[in-house]
Amino acid sequence: MAEAASFLLNEELVAIPTETVYGLAGNALNAAVVLKIFEAKERPSFDPLIVHIPSKEVALLYAKDVPPVALMLMEAFWPGPLTLVLKKKSIIPDVVTSGLDTVGLRMPNHPMTLALLNTIDFPLAAPSANPFGYISPTTAQHVVDQLHSKIAMVLDGGACTVGVESTIVGFENGETVIYRLGGLTLEDIRKVAGDVVVCVNSSSDPKAPGMLKSHYAPSKPLYISNDLNSLIKINENYRLAVICFGNVKINEQHAVYNLSVKSDFKEAASNLFSFLRAIDQRNDIDVIVAALLPEANLGYAINDRLWRAAVK
Ligand code: AMP
Ligand code: MG
Repeated sequence: MAEAASFLLNEELVAIPTETVYGLAGNALNAAVVLKIFEAKERPSFDPLIVHIPSKEVALLYAKDVPPVALMLMEAFWPGPLTLVLKKKSIIPDVVTSGLDTVGLRMPNHPMTLALLNTIDFPLAAPSANPFGYISPTTAQHVVDQLHSKIAMVLDGGACTVGVESTIVGFENGETVIYRLGGLTLEDIRKVAGDVVVCVNSSSDPKAPGMLKSHYAPSKPLYISNDLNSLIKINENYRLAVICFGNVKINEQHAVYNLSVKSDFKEAASNLFSFLRAIDQRNDIDVIVAALLPEANLGYAINDRLWRAAVK
């Protein structure tokens, strides 16, 4: 931990564990460091970074005009998989937010990273610790596999318990807007915020944030459908990996990856990216097919990842 803090103080990048996915972290108040993050990930500069902070009080050092509903969401769900997009104070460099006048803030729920944030006196800008567009990392090994030459160290905090990115929520004209479906469910957000507008359509417009059409993608072709059996049939001449959910029977000639036999959405979310990576590394598989999950709970967030990872 001390080593990680000292690397960060010395303007280096450190991969950090969170409950969602591993982050590639650097001093969010230092524009040169933030540029290093974009370079290491080969991330386009129009895609803003989330800033990680250790508490609600610290969040308020970097955001202004915070609406009451945002404070209620912080109170209810921080630390946790919720990013709030708020008006930024000028201390946050423009490179962090891709020139937007808002900043995405999150208090992650991981003891190591919270302890780290409490020992340094700056917040951490941290996108997922993977090359841009590829599957997000949910273990320290995933990070090492792809970024080891570009970062000073990886803090190994074990496998991520949530396994999909944070839910991103902003506030426009008195409305609460969901920009990205993620580890906190819509049902939970509605309990605190009441009505919300869901605005997660595909776009390469930075104002419709983070919602690039192609993302989280394996290098093998991935096809998705509600009708898994037909999808398998269409692709039966390929060596198939089949991603499914719940109590389903799949022909054992295929490599079957069941996200959760007992139809547990949480378990499914935590398996999703690891399964995609494991399949992508197999040289005895040509094509991946996946069943879309039921539209409920974390099913929305998981389906969103599958849509963006799939062949267009
Ligand atoms: P990640 O790749 O998980 O680090 O997520 C970063 C995403 O957070 C971006 O792609 C945006 O969708 C979102 N984001 C971060 N900052 C902002 C902001 N100021 N306004 C809107 N969305 C933001
Ligand atoms: Mg990412």
